[in-house]
Amino acid sequence: MDEKTFDLIVIGAGPGGYVAAIRAAQLGLKTACIEKEEALGGTCLRVGCIPSKALLESSELYHEARGSFIKHGIGVGEVTLDLAAMLQRKDNVVKANTKGIDGLFRKGKITRFLGVGRLAGNGKVTVEPTGANAGQPAESLSAKYILIATGSKVAMLPDIKVDGKAVGTSTEALAYTEVPKHLVVIGAGAIGLELGSVWNRLGAKVTVLEYLNRILPGMDMEISAEAQKLLAKQGLEFKLGTRVKSAKAEGAGAVVECDGMEPIHCDKVLVAVGRTPNTENLGLETAGIKTDSRGRIPVDEHFATSAPGIYAIGDVIPGVMLAHKAEEEGIACVERLVTGYGHVNYAAIPNVVYTHPEIASVGKTEEELKADGREYKKGSFPFMANGRARALGHVDGKVKVLADAQTDRILGVHILGPRAGDLIAEAVVAMEFGASAEDVARSSHAHPTLAEALKEAALGVEGRSIHI
Ligand code: NAD
Repeated sequence: MDEKTFDLIVIGAGPGGYVAAIRAAQLGLKTACIEKEEALGGTCLRVGCIPSKALLESSELYHEARGSFIKHGIGVGEVTLDLAAMLQRKDNVVKANTKGIDGLFRKGKITRFLGVGRLAGNGKVTVEPTGANAGQPAESLSAKYILIATGSKVAMLPDIKVDGKAVGTSTEALAYTEVPKHLVVIGAGAIGLELGSVWNRLGAKVTVLEYLNRILPGMDMEISAEAQKLLAKQGLEFKLGTRVKSAKAEGAGAVVECDGMEPIHCDKVLVAVGRTPNTENLGLETAGIKTDSRGRIPVDEHFATSAPGIYAIGDVIPGVMLAHKAEEEGIACVERLVTGYGHVNYAAIPNVVYTHPEIASVGKTEEELKADGREYKKGSFPFMANGRARALGHVDGKVKVLADAQTDRILGVHILGPRAGDLIAEAVVAMEFGASAEDVARSSHAHPTLAEALKEAALGVEGRSIHI
């Protein structure tokens, strides 16, 4: 095999692509990964999950220092905000993570190409150099298998004029150099609520405009309604049932027009109305691959596209757009290529929104169970009655366990509360093993921990919670 021929070429080094490349290398495949950005890790590591979590952490500490430390008997005098330092810390966190992937690639002897990868017929890929390599001649690579993992980009509305200054996306909202006086967020999904929370905590007035009559579509309704109340108490202003028609820069700020209300004048607009797959300019036509009406690549249950040897995973294929879903798909795809089997259990993919408190879920919502006509039992337990939550001073929210009425098998778990994103992992494992609510209820949970709230909710399925 010459140096331009590989067993597997992965296009895109986001969480789906880089994880697939590492697993393929572990399994002995001669692997290449093409990424157009200098830093590996994709949207998630560079301008998504990781930097937003860094800012969520910093802004929460700032908020706590101003309001909550005193409740612990800690006086800190005047609390000041050095936004530049906060942003620098976020950038350092990103750098440490993306550099870490460079190290993992070296360890796995994965060949990295800096450039835009495009299909050039079955088994062939061209790389058009970018970044430090820009201007160099394009390279031609070939491989037995090609994996498309090019992720997604921010979805736009036709009359929203993003200028990257007054009207921008999550990328800009991760790097505002001063706290906006008034930030308008379009869309009450995960991005809108997480970044809206960051700037609200740092002092901005935040107005969230949402087309639907609820926040967080797809999440369990009872949990999202309770979350909305808590976020509103923190200062986020919600205007639901509001369709944004247009947004554009105006003077030093922006103006947003919605159906049925006066235009809103503000400093910044964050557009967070979803994401759309990166499937343009990929050379799909050279291999005869057609996208669906939403620009996604159709695949079979083994992630195979219509073209032999070409596979696709993550945000470019149908399904939820989540980093960990893409990772599972990447691993399952390459494991099947090498070992003959590989599987993703879509019924046990968790979903977490990192607001305060966090919101986490896995499995079916109550609305879905009702729509399916499935009989279920429900147990719930408030963090108010959990000793550890009281000690932390974070008692808002609850855990809800939904189980099959006949078999007691857990069908869904929904958590609003402190560290919900970590707590949901136990529910995921339980569901992977087909656990009943009784299984969780009879498992010893260390005292005092937040996890006891899940045990209590599981006990609640049969009406036997102890502490409520
Ligand atoms: P989203 O699809 O989750 O939410 C977008 C919201 O915008 C929806 O509620 C929609 O009804 C609303 N909307 C659409 N058009 C509108 C209009 N004209 N006026 C008002 N509202 C309108 O999208 P997102 O928050 O941008 O996130 C994008 C993707 O990234 C999602 O798949 C999300 O799951 C993922 N993501 C996940 C996390 C996480 O897991 N914590 C964090 C960030 C992003």
